[in-house]
Amino acid sequence: MCGIVGYIGEQQAYPVLIKGLHRLEYRGYDSAGVSMITPQGDLHVYKATGKVSALEEKCAPEDTTGTIGIAHTRWATHGEPNTVNAHPHRSESGNLSLVHNGIIENYKTLRAMLEKKGYSFSSETDTEVLVQLIEFTQKNEKCDLFTAVQRALKNVVGAYAIAILEKEHPDRIVCARKGSPLVIGVGTDARGHREFYIGSDATPIIEYTNQVIYLKDEEIALMTRNSDLPEIINLANVHQTPEMHTLQLSLDELEKGGYPHFMLKEIWEQPNALRTCIQGRVHVQAKDVRLSGIVEHREKFLNARRIIICACGTSWHSALIGKYFIEEAAQIPVEVEYASEFRYRNPVIYPDDIVIAVSQSGETADTLAAIQLAEQKGAFLYGICNVIGSSIARATHSGTYIHVGPEIGVASTKAFTGQVVTLCLLGLAIAKEKHTLSDEMFHLLVDELQSIPDKIQWTLEHNQNIDQFAQMFTYCRNFLFLGRGYNYPVALEGALKLKEISYIHAEGYPAAEMKHGPIALVDGEMPCVFIAPKRGMYDKVVSNIQEIKSRKGKIISVVTEGDKTVSDMSDYTFVIPDTRDCFVPLLAVVPLQLLSYYVATAKGRNVDQPRNLAKSVTVE
Ligand code: GLU
Repeated sequence: MCGIVGYIGEQQAYPVLIKGLHRLEYRGYDSAGVSMITPQGDLHVYKATGKVSALEEKCAPEDTTGTIGIAHTRWATHGEPNTVNAHPHRSESGNLSLVHNGIIENYKTLRAMLEKKGYSFSSETDTEVLVQLIEFTQKNEKCDLFTAVQRALKNVVGAYAIAILEKEHPDRIVCARKGSPLVIGVGTDARGHREFYIGSDATPIIEYTNQVIYLKDEEIALMTRNSDLPEIINLANVHQTPEMHTLQLSLDELEKGGYPHFMLKEIWEQPNALRTCIQGRVHVQAKDVRLSGIVEHREKFLNARRIIICACGTSWHSALIGKYFIEEAAQIPVEVEYASEFRYRNPVIYPDDIVIAVSQSGETADTLAAIQLAEQKGAFLYGICNVIGSSIARATHSGTYIHVGPEIGVASTKAFTGQVVTLCLLGLAIAKEKHTLSDEMFHLLVDELQSIPDKIQWTLEHNQNIDQFAQMFTYCRNFLFLGRGYNYPVALEGALKLKEISYIHAEGYPAAEMKHGPIALVDGEMPCVFIAPKRGMYDKVVSNIQEIKSRKGKIISVVTEGDKTVSDMSDYTFVIPDTRDCFVPLLAVVPLQLLSYYVATAKGRNVDQPRNLAKSVTVE
């Protein structure tokens, strides 16, 4: 779930590891640890609960020398977030130390087996079982660490990315993965020596090298000091040739660039991010939308009986908007599923169904499992991800990257709008092939979509007062977010954003559903946020606002520039430019992102790393 960093080369490992852990902080974690082998051959492990800075304080008086090491940020799944449960974990003899992301599902059975053989355990984690199992295998089968890891993992059920040090061999690191990502960076230091970096994603690696190997599921890699490349073998005993990729990420993209938080930076990045997302896909001269993922599989899309979109959290909200758009533009029925529910049902899937996975990180465990199930049932798989080379991107038959750049803030903002734009592009591209839109309407929509980045810029610039009045809402205990049609998912997303980062309870509802229950909550204290653009069901929404007003609820509204009716009824209004119904979500969500951000910062919350949340949810 959380972060792994590793280094072997000629430099001091500790500074590389600590810097890497800081880069991974965005993922959210509860404790951290490092392990190095000193030039004298001692294997040290230091751990601390809380932030990486607490670990640094703990390490300050200690011996942190050595040119080989591994480090971890933990997001507890098995056992409290305390120092004993933090990683790295040591083996019984003290010869091995290991870090792990993920969950070992059969850890209880393995632990009982090892206890019978005389092994004892100091933590409650599933991870400690792994390190003991590897040591047991190594001793029992008298083999080297690389072989022992491979043999031990054959008995493991679950998800893992691991990295291991061995005191007796201070010149090698072994790592492996299944269901949880791991990247190996291959670099050369100033004196021309080979060095290897390990990361649970590329962020700790990019500043040293852009040459990486994405370890694949069930692969084990051995990095030996001064060897040219890692040796890779899989669980089925087949040697693999390392495939080198060049990272497209730049270090600048990972820094805050003058903003106090990544989240604010990412909200303001949306105009440019969406320009990149649209660029190259909308062909202005030919007035066409082309997604290579669809061009290459044209027949599949032309003959699709149904589209099923599997997603979680914010991606599930963008999927709902995508459903409305694709159904309207391309006339294909679309179902939107929570991946975590879908994967454990026995869903009916036809061979002419297309299953789309939407995930920012491309590593969301439930979404990955959902598409694996769909594949077994013969569906065609399409991925919509942000992270290039991620597991979902590789597990799908085809797909489209949203290309909004790295999203570091845990609460998703630019990835949400990027996903909505991509789903709209997808709908337009299919509509073009199927002739379900008139040429005139197609061109209108394409032109309007291209104007969205400028309109988001306008929205950002015309809602700069949100920070002032956000202060007034810091004492609220509840919020309601209401919208209809395309703006119902926006209401859901607005509520989720506020919950995630301010810890204020919020509900998103279709505005008309309010009368069937939530209206009972409304009193003079309750802020109700209405998404009420002068479009579609405007008059109906005005009536819904009246209903709340007559119960003294506080009205906050998102209105079209120039609107008077709703503005006059509201205590606070945010303005957005006019656009077509289907694109309103891209504008209306922006003030809601800002509202959550400013309420949360006024409450002193850690907006980039809210409590209990992780950026990339690689456990189910
Ligand atoms: N399951 C492991 C634990 O609870 C690893 C959690 C993680 O991925 O950070 O220690």
